[in-house]
Amino acid sequence: MSASILQCMDCGQQYPIDTVIYTCSHCGGLLDVCHDFDSLKDSITHDTFDARLGSLNAPYNSGVWRYKELIYPHVDETHIVSRPEGNTNLYHVPRLAQWAGIETLFLKHEGENPTGSFKDRGMTGGVTQARVLGMQRIACASTGNTSASLASYAAHGGLESIVFFQNKQIAFGKLAQAIAYGATCVQINADFDRNLELVREVADKLGIYVLNSINPFRLEGQKSIIFEILQQLRWQTPDWIVCPGGNLGNSSAFGKALQEAYTLGLIDRMPHLAIIQAEGANPLYQSFRHDFDEYAPMHAETIATAIKIGNPVNYPKAVRTIKWTDGVVEQVSDQEIMDAKALIDAQGIGCEPASACSLAGTRKLCEQGIIQANDTVVGILTGHVLKDPDATINYHSNSLPDITATYPNKLHQAEPSVEEISRILLNATEIAR
Ligand SMILES: *Cc1c(COP(=O)(O)O)cnc(C)c1O
Ligand SMILES: [Zn+2]
Repeated sequence: MSASILQCMDCGQQYPIDTVIYTCSHCGGLLDVCHDFDSLKDSITHDTFDARLGSLNAPYNSGVWRYKELIYPHVDETHIVSRPEGNTNLYHVPRLAQWAGIETLFLKHEGENPTGSFKDRGMTGGVTQARVLGMQRIACASTGNTSASLASYAAHGGLESIVFFQNKQIAFGKLAQAIAYGATCVQINADFDRNLELVREVADKLGIYVLNSINPFRLEGQKSIIFEILQQLRWQTPDWIVCPGGNLGNSSAFGKALQEAYTLGLIDRMPHLAIIQAEGANPLYQSFRHDFDEYAPMHAETIATAIKIGNPVNYPKAVRTIKWTDGVVEQVSDQEIMDAKALIDAQGIGCEPASACSLAGTRKLCEQGIIQANDTVVGILTGHVLKDPDATINYHSNSLPDITATYPNKLHQAEPSVEEISRILLNATEIAR
């Protein structure tokens, strides 16, 4: 057998790869896309993937499809919708490392994807599958970035897209993208978790393909974040990979990627994964504290809107990731998130609030002695600094409720006077960083 199949992670039930299905129809469990790696062993090597670096041709010019054998080996390439995504930078950031209390920190900037978040890596997988299935319309519920990405990839691939937004706290950059790329946008008087239920019911009724991260083809694409990090580190394994956790799609994809890379001999040891949640949206953290014995959905509140999720659909896969990687879950406050963001921004790199969990969480885990000072850490920056300009500007003008700007960069006001402007500049540069 050379094809891929869908398999339930709980009961093992298998389904043909071209079934339109999101969860197991026997037990309701989450599905994995499983590939027959045995028949591909000879081509899954460092050399294969290294030889494609810098390729100018589709699909290998994409940082997702460069690893095609690991993502969707036998897909008909005419179905692939790619912008192309991935090929994001891995920044060495010694000053931030020092702030976090470690020697070696890299930040993988997924905000450098075509629509400004890692969602593009999943979307190329999901929209490609929509075309494999012959679906014309695709939909998602979104805190913002998924919709921006869905709208872009749908337009690029000649499909129609539909987006369910929640009623409040949508970051403006994201809404603007979905509207600009031509999605049918519906703002619904409900939060993300309710919208996710609604999109599944409506899609079922109207024959629309759902591309939330419950869709396992998205997770296949997101595995490439890990493969790209490993390749950028010359296939050396870092000690820790630290990422924010919202709907836990990334956490799930990372576990599967690492498990496969290890099983296939691409790496010789497993790194630990640390998933960082916001204090106001921390159901996985709560569950982790109780050895995963209990799980309770919650009402979510945090300034980091991308992870403002109280009932993450991929919870079981994230638990599996923590077990596979001997990982941990930590939480950080909105204050810690915004301060860490200000520091990442001030390096000239920048990110949206949720992304800063990676740095804030690294520091916290280091303080607790869970991450050691001489460990090599890779933090994931999930989204671009321009996604949520309100959060940035309100932080620096110290006008966020319940948050004090520890690292403010004030906007100065001046009359058109050389003396006044000079005075301001001399004062400002005295305290310049
Ligand atoms: C979607 C998203 C997250 C959360 O990722 P999950 O896979 O849902 O856990 C974090 N940060 C940004 C910027 C996102 O867009
Ligand atoms: Zn099942």
